[in-house]
Amino acid sequence: MGSHVVSNAQKPHVVCIPYPAQGHINPMLKVAKLLHAKGFHVTFVNTIYNHKRLLRSRGPNALDRLPSFQFEAIPDGLPEPEVDATQDIAALCESTTTNCLTPFKELLQQINARDDVPPVSCIVSDGAMGFTLDAAEELGVPEVLFWTPSAPGFMAYLHFYLFIEKGLSPLKDESCLTKEHLNTPIDWIPSMKNLKLKDIPTFVRTANSSDIIMLNFIVRETERSKRASAIILNTFDDLDHDILQAMQSILPPVYSIGPLHLLVNREIKEDSETGTLGANLWREETECLDWLDTKTRNSVVYVNFGSITVMTGKQLVEFAWGLAASRKEFLWVIRPDLVAGEEAVIPTEFLTETEGRRMLLSWCPQEKVLSHPAVGGFLTHNGWNSTLESISAGVPMLCWPFFAEQQTNSKFCCDEWGVGMEIGEDVRREEVEAVVRELMDGEKGKKLREKAEEWRCLAEKATEHPCGSSVVNFKTVVDILLGKKLG
Ligand code: UDP
Repeated sequence: MGSHVVSNAQKPHVVCIPYPAQGHINPMLKVAKLLHAKGFHVTFVNTIYNHKRLLRSRGPNALDRLPSFQFEAIPDGLPEPEVDATQDIAALCESTTTNCLTPFKELLQQINARDDVPPVSCIVSDGAMGFTLDAAEELGVPEVLFWTPSAPGFMAYLHFYLFIEKGLSPLKDESCLTKEHLNTPIDWIPSMKNLKLKDIPTFVRTANSSDIIMLNFIVRETERSKRASAIILNTFDDLDHDILQAMQSILPPVYSIGPLHLLVNREIKEDSETGTLGANLWREETECLDWLDTKTRNSVVYVNFGSITVMTGKQLVEFAWGLAASRKEFLWVIRPDLVAGEEAVIPTEFLTETEGRRMLLSWCPQEKVLSHPAVGGFLTHNGWNSTLESISAGVPMLCWPFFAEQQTNSKFCCDEWGVGMEIGEDVRREEVEAVVRELMDGEKGKKLREKAEEWRCLAEKATEHPCGSSVVNFKTVVDILLGKKLG
């Protein structure tokens, strides 16, 4: 009764726009939920293709339940795939940059013409959707850019222009990709030590046309980021302190506000109105949680390569036989489009051989799986969300990076954060068997688990009220979005 009801017109209104891929939509939805909890009216903008996929995976009413949290969609400019599948990243980058600004501006105009929602007062955009800065400047509202890669990965991206200036990239042709070239020391990125060219995000290292698109895209977008009111990253200060410090001198203020899923878990009840909003483009198979409930502590290897990684049929079979030979129990998520250009086929003998000690599925509620006590190790592609979810659940990793900044994440997991062991690119079953055993039962595995546990505690601390570094940073970002503080 005594509380002051904020009318719609008075509410700040944030428009959140992720880059249209799973690993970007998930963390952006978390930022949106947290802002909603702070009293913002939220408009969340997906591409039409992803909007339709979300309705298919989560049910027709999944996205329109809350007047103060609305979903809108704009076209991505690409032909719609016939079956639900991950879109080509380079084509999507080109297309969003070229085609999305006009529909985005039109959407903002439509929103501002409505009298049932407050006018748009700020934008949080994915760093890879920097065209939105033009719209924010035109409206005269603050825009915060959310770069979803890791801090080391983003720091490397910020220096891509120097790889070009130094003649290290792009390569003339694939034959330049020699061992010697890959081992070129990269010791001139501030705050990043002991790196070789092979540890830098993949887009600097090849001459193939889609990676040249990505190289140019990243140079352009990182430069454009300097126009933002602030930059946010899904990490926490203790994990990336020096890199975050070094970024401050080349960018608008940079704030670490993660791990976002821990902040969300603390602030938003799972059965609340926004708690039930999800962003999975595939239907989650939750029965794996019941299966995990029957397993003992740290006994299960969890295997998942995220939403984009593809491999050859041969690599899939090597992983399968390596896991079988380890004699460990495992939960393996095999996306229908995991094998490039063909259906993922698992040998029948493997299924017979591992009967009773494995569960195979095509998509799972990963945060819950990783924080389940039965999970003792994670065989991962080191996408940043997966890596951070693993670190903050205290789960050590076997790293098999695929592309983008995953190689950098793997390097940091193994050599800086002490939570991972690498599997060679050319995966062999004997190696898989050996590293799985070492991770689950060996001395090295024990050390990695202890270190992961230390990081888990620090991640918890960063998200604790009222003084956790990410909590404090998030408050500052809210002030920037409210126009109370200059970025
Ligand atoms: N994810 C999930 N279930 C799965 C696989 C992935 O919920 O079966 C989520 C995972 O928790 C993470 C995101 O999808 O938040 C994948 O992002 P990441 O950056 O790890 O990898 P990407 O898919 O972008 O390569």
